[in-house]
Amino acid sequence: MDVKSYSQDITPSIKILGAYGGKATNMALTSLQLSKEVVMDAGNILEGLGNGIKNINHVFVSHSHLDHINDIGFLIDATFEQRKIPLKIYGRKKTLEDIEKHILNWDIWPDFTQINLLGSDLKAIELVEISLGEVIEVDDCKIKAIENNHTISSNGFVIEKNNKAILFTSDTYCCDSIWDEVNNNEKISCILIDVSFPSRMAQLAYDSKHLTPELLAQELKKLKRDDITVYVNHIKPSYKIELVKEIIKSDVLLNDGMIVEAQDVIEL
Ligand SMILES: [Zn+2]
Ligand SMILES: [Zn+2]
Repeated sequence: MDVKSYSQDITPSIKILGAYGGKATNMALTSLQLSKEVVMDAGNILEGLGNGIKNINHVFVSHSHLDHINDIGFLIDATFEQRKIPLKIYGRKKTLEDIEKHILNWDIWPDFTQINLLGSDLKAIELVEISLGEVIEVDDCKIKAIENNHTISSNGFVIEKNNKAILFTSDTYCCDSIWDEVNNNEKISCILIDVSFPSRMAQLAYDSKHLTPELLAQELKKLKRDDITVYVNHIKPSYKIELVKEIIKSDVLLNDGMIVEAQDVIEL
């Protein structure tokens, strides 16, 4: 899809740039493009967008695990010279603190929050703290952080475009508030949810706070609507063959949902 067509879409959509919870050949890390200027999670922005990286001014981050922040440093590096305004990175307080402390710390990567753009007083990166429930409006998207169940400061997002919305859980274990949001927010037409491990690995799923097909099937009992399309992402590459079979057998991909791949477009 031509990125220019986003704002003119009758049916609003988002594009998958990467859909896995680990890296392997043809399996890229978690990343979504919401509009010409906005991406969510930074697992695979550069390869996912190619030339389109020059338009990206806003990166929303669900949590600070490596598979979700991987490309932040490379994105600012690749676009620094052409950039006229700061690259804004949005996340909850601890997520932003983690990025500054562990990545943009001069040791692992330069601290672009302290580096001026060329010929400018503006910094290359601006960190923007967001809170649960707060709605941020940017480039025709309304983005709301919602509670999930993964790390202390992780969150999912409701992404609204043209009065239609998708709930992106990001990485999560079982979580009532996700389903409360879907049941009560009529604009939501679909959900993109984490299934990382096969059901035989329930203990690891619990310890690392991810879902399995069996857990997702249980979670779907909390869904009180029959019109929600269920998309799955974040498969761990080592379990791909086994997990795809199990997900399909589990009947969790409701209303023609699918296991998403890079370059898929989800219509809201
Ligand atoms: Zn992840
Ligand atoms: Zn994670």
